[in-house]
Amino acid sequence: DGRDFAGRRVLVTGAGKGIGRATAVMLHRRGAEVIAATRSAEDLKELAAEIGCRTIAVDLGDPEATRRAAIAALPVDALVNCAGTTTLESFLDTSVDSFDAIMAVNARAPMIVAQEVARDMIRRGRPGAIVNVSSVSSAIGLPDHTAYCASKGALDAITRVMAVELGPHGIRTNSVNPVVTLTPMAVKAWSDPAKSGPMLGRIPLGRFAQPDDVAEVILYLLGDAAAMMNGAIVPVDGGFLAT
Ligand code: NDP
Repeated sequence: DGRDFAGRRVLVTGAGKGIGRATAVMLHRRGAEVIAATRSAEDLKELAAEIGCRTIAVDLGDPEATRRAAIAALPVDALVNCAGTTTLESFLDTSVDSFDAIMAVNARAPMIVAQEVARDMIRRGRPGAIVNVSSVSSAIGLPDHTAYCASKGALDAITRVMAVELGPHGIRTNSVNPVVTLTPMAVKAWSDPAKSGPMLGRIPLGRFAQPDDVAEVILYLLGDAAAMMNGAIVPVDGGFLAT
């Protein structure tokens, strides 16, 4: 690994598990100083023991706590909005409470955190890079994922507005949109071939993503090699959306 993130401070939300954790570890290996924000204190303790990062425990469903946590992380050079959540409910059974809760974590929290991060970058006159972790679900109708699909569609829209408004300040915003990614939880959820088979059949590369597949694209978009990328919605899906 090159150390191309040496001297950079990067805030990663949802760094306790899955894609966020893989991203935090990869950033650390490439020289970044990571600030990890997530809900479970136990996960933060474990991550800090592994990569020596600063940690912030926060429930991103709470807007005031989310704003305080973002401000506590400043100043940073980059942000990865990775925390996300879902519940399985049919369209007809989706409750107002779960719709609001999922929108709060998946769409509203990334906005709040990015507002504080970008405000501070502009105040300091510093450039920056932000990556929002969306999903292929923003572009398709995934059964039993009404609120989740809506939240990721909203997040893509937020990414575009951020790119347009923050670009003139030298702050680039892009999103990565993974297909099923084999985090520990997903490995369990997709271990049944009867369920995984049809989904795999729709992915031209014939496999699900690994957390590191997604982290690599996040780091690319954060890095100087992507200096002209802004407002891009980047599938990390083995060709799923191309079919
Ligand atoms: P995981 O469940 O493995 O990790 C999600 C992380 O986000 C956890 O650390 C979790 O903390 C944190 N988080 C969730 N809700 C909150 C909250 N209210 N406040 C603070 N932290 C919270 O998920 P993935 O790694 O799979 O997902 C990461 C991102 O990637 C999400 O945005 C997801 O939508 C997206 N994605 C995932 C795909 C997949 O197949 N895995 C596919 C496409 C997109 P805790 O456990 O403590 O709640």
